[in-house]
Amino acid sequence: MLPGLQVEGVKLDTDACLKQNPLNTFTNASSAQVEGPPQAEGPVVGCWSTDPIWPGWDTLALNKPKFCIEREAQLHKQAAAVNDAIYTMEGHLPPRHYKNPVYSCKVFLGGVPWDITEASVLNTFSVFGPLKVDWPGKDGNHPRFAPQGYMYLLFDWEESVKSLMQACAQSDDNLEFYYKLSSRQIHSKDVRVIPWVISDSSFIHHPIQHLSCSKTVFVGALHGTLNAESLAHIMEELFGEVMYAGIDTDKHKYPIGSGRVTFRSQRSYLKAVTAAFVQIKTLKFTKKVQIDPYLSDSMCQICNSQPGPFFCRAQACFKYYCQSCWYWQHSLDVLSSHQPLMRNQKGLNPNKPTAAGVGKSLD
Ligand SMILES: [Zn+2]
Ligand SMILES: [Zn+2]
Repeated sequence: MLPGLQVEGVKLDTDACLKQNPLNTFTNASSAQVEGPPQAEGPVVGCWSTDPIWPGWDTLALNKPKFCIEREAQLHKQAAAVNDAIYTMEGHLPPRHYKNPVYSCKVFLGGVPWDITEASVLNTFSVFGPLKVDWPGKDGNHPRFAPQGYMYLLFDWEESVKSLMQACAQSDDNLEFYYKLSSRQIHSKDVRVIPWVISDSSFIHHPIQHLSCSKTVFVGALHGTLNAESLAHIMEELFGEVMYAGIDTDKHKYPIGSGRVTFRSQRSYLKAVTAAFVQIKTLKFTKKVQIDPYLSDSMCQICNSQPGPFFCRAQACFKYYCQSCWYWQHSLDVLSSHQPLMRNQKGLNPNKPTAAGVGKSLD
């Protein structure tokens, strides 16, 4: 168990503000008070598209409106922002002590001056080595300024990240790093710098030969500073023995805001899936994370003849369905409230890897 972390049994969080504005947490991520990489939320907002996402979809004769089932699946993905978390972990995460940390070449910068330009960012940070700027949300409408208040630096060399860390001011507890950045309008603003130690992406609690998909959950909306070991401990305290925890990362080995946890027992797995949400409260952040079954490629478990991309997590079902079997099964009134779960659709948001794409070691 983590020092200072304690499980609070059943605790309802009634944050009325969240209920009134379901997108609140997403938009908060873009404020100047960015506490961590908001990449978990960013892409979700980007997912809100009513455009056809399956080219062949509209050739199917459906009773329901087009894309309805997928929109429901997407709605579910946003649920972490609005649903009450029953389980709460409260306390502080222990500081990490690294011997020879290897950093991702990607670094998050939060709370950057609104009028900062790419040129001045490059100019400021090139003293640490060659780099590029990854500037989410920068488009034709915002060609010059960081629209979200955050950005990523992509250094060519890992040593550059270490030099930058050394040049940063640290918080009293040595957990947070800040670097002064100036723009035309704002002089010398403390900007949050969040690097990532690559070894923090996975934590093997108990060495095992084989990670079973059927005991693995997908965890979304993770805070950007939460490492795999902390995730494993939190999930173990709440639900039972954890074998493995992994933080999903991009091609720069930087976290993307989701992860996976494999439990020892089916019982822990079901407990976690049933909980659906966990509130993690630390001195540094409060974050409601979403727990979903880790979905694999499966045939429809009703007809066994079609691919089954839609999963129903309700206890009465807990199966993969093809589209027509989904509607057939859920045409009963008592089951009509069930919501489909899908793996993230490829092509919908190319920056957001699928849950499955990062779990190649799983069966
Ligand atoms: Zn079927
Ligand atoms: Zn169902």
